Amino acid sequence: MKHTMREHFSMELRAIKMLHGVSPKFFPIVTINNTLAALLPYVTVFFSAKVLSELATQRRPEVLWKWVILTALTTGILAILSAFFKEREETLLDDIWGRKEILFCKKAMSMDFADADRQETRDLRAQIAQNENWSGLGLMYAAIVYKEMVKGVIGILGGVALTVNLFAIPVPESAGNLRILNSPLLIFLFAAVLIGVSMLAGFLYGKVADYTNRLTRDATFGNRVFTYMCTFPFAKNNRLDIRIYNQQPLISRAYSDNNAVFSADGSFGRAARGPMGLCSALAVSISAVTTGFIYVFTCLKAWAGAFDVGSVTQYVGAATALAGSVYAMLEAYGDMKANTEHLATTFRYLDMPNAMYQGSLTTEKRADRNYQVEFRNVSFKYPGSETWALRNVSMKFQIGKRLAIVGENGSGKTTFIKLLCRLYDPQEGEILLNGIDIRKYRYDDYMGIFSIVFQDFQLISQSLGSNVAGSVDYDAQRVKKALTDAGFGPRLESLPKGLDTQLYKDYGEDGIEVSGGEAQKIAIARALYKNAPFIILDEPTAALDPMAEAEIYAKFNEISGDKTAIYISHRLSSCKFCDEILVFHQGAIVQQGTHEALLSRKDGKYAQLWNAQAQYYTK
Ligand code: ADP
Repeated sequence: MKHTMREHFSMELRAIKMLHGVSPKFFPIVTINNTLAALLPYVTVFFSAKVLSELATQRRPEVLWKWVILTALTTGILAILSAFFKEREETLLDDIWGRKEILFCKKAMSMDFADADRQETRDLRAQIAQNENWSGLGLMYAAIVYKEMVKGVIGILGGVALTVNLFAIPVPESAGNLRILNSPLLIFLFAAVLIGVSMLAGFLYGKVADYTNRLTRDATFGNRVFTYMCTFPFAKNNRLDIRIYNQQPLISRAYSDNNAVFSADGSFGRAARGPMGLCSALAVSISAVTTGFIYVFTCLKAWAGAFDVGSVTQYVGAATALAGSVYAMLEAYGDMKANTEHLATTFRYLDMPNAMYQGSLTTEKRADRNYQVEFRNVSFKYPGSETWALRNVSMKFQIGKRLAIVGENGSGKTTFIKLLCRLYDPQEGEILLNGIDIRKYRYDDYMGIFSIVFQDFQLISQSLGSNVAGSVDYDAQRVKKALTDAGFGPRLESLPKGLDTQLYKDYGEDGIEVSGGEAQKIAIARALYKNAPFIILDEPTAALDPMAEAEIYAKFNEISGDKTAIYISHRLSSCKFCDEILVFHQGAIVQQGTHEALLSRKDGKYAQLWNAQAQYYTK
């Protein structure tokens, strides 16, 4: 996609502002360091010209001393300052690599769940990370471009200041034909050639950047394969599979087949031997031509008597550095252009709107927990899916009751819960809380009334207490009670560090590993600690045998108190104690009632499922 110059600059500026937000010292240091770096060559040129002039003319020792000492002092101080700031810049550059991840982390945590869950979103994030890993393209590149631009601008200003006199001082009348060097037209032509050649070199460099950019897709794919294949053997579950199924050749083969992009015969190698390499070589060689022009013009003026030999050094040095700065500036512009597309991708991710946060009503905190929830003709398809995961679902919740949702795998039970908690919005129908569409409530407020333990819940490598409370600070007594209610009490007693025990060993050897059953109890304690009016168990016990599951559900019934509890299971025996049972089948509610009432309908889905499962259970 083509972008305008304005877009290149505005995206660059926005990226700089964002990076400045996460690392406020970085850009001031980069500015100082690169101003110094750009000025240093001119300082050397200026002082050596003074020394040479004196040597070539009056040779006064006291003047020579003065210039030599000044040269040594100035270049020495500048070099020390430059080394100091360069070191700071490099440290901050490393630091900002990590810090900019904060921007992505915050976004990943705050975007709508439905967006976070979409494959497209994950692909977009992966693409941004791959562009960055392959050559820093994206936010980091904006920092590099800024650095190059500071160097270019200061280089041009310094160069102009030191070369003005090359054009301004005329050759004397006595110079005969060489007086043509005073002609404004010639001076203009000379300057035009100088700038033209630098621009041509810059343009050629832009071509190289374009080629590199076009190859980025190949490179990022290569990196993707590399990252996947080279980290695959380290993951816990894969270590086992690799050995049991002898997967080594499969992995090595996939790696060498797909990662050829960086080899000598890969797309990069071919481009470097072909047009990309040619452009690059031409850019460097025509820059050398500029130096030749500068020498001829300057020496002719000195020959004609416009200035002395010292000034020749100054003008040649300064004009060469000036041409180099013009080239560097164009190079930076080429890099900025090449980066725009990647910044656009980055901003597409960071700017994803939060459509779900638009509600404004608060969910009143009702002491009586009298929340009425109703589904009215709700239908839902997952993004990118053609089939309805739920179709025409209508039901009303009895507050404070125990509700069970049963049905075969894939019948829509979890989807129903995800819609109830507004992780997704339905395409048709509406869900009402106390008679008002849930989309009208403040999203975080609405989330506050649910505690859910999903089947694929995750605990975090933090202390046990923080896991239960979901925060660093917590009420230790309440956490202990929640853990005890969830059946984790005896295990908690056995832990010397109690609630401060670190879960898992990601951060060190003193973390503990917990079994699947223990993890489940901690997850249930987390739901209890939140103390929300609705508490939902979505088959967190699927890994347990039916008897153990039934036991947990029955215990949960006891501890969930006056909350509205919803149990989901494809095992009917776990839920038979519930006040009301909803039977899901192919995305619809096909039956509703108590266990006894449902069982008495011999031809119903419930009775059919019950009879199929009954052989496994002792009733
Ligand atoms: P259950 O909880 O009863 O096992 P689900 O509600 O998880 O069933 O799934 C209902 C249907 O929706 C299934 O056909 C399933 O394949 C589909 N489904 C579930 N999650 C997703 C998803 N994230 N994207 C697309 N389809 C999904």
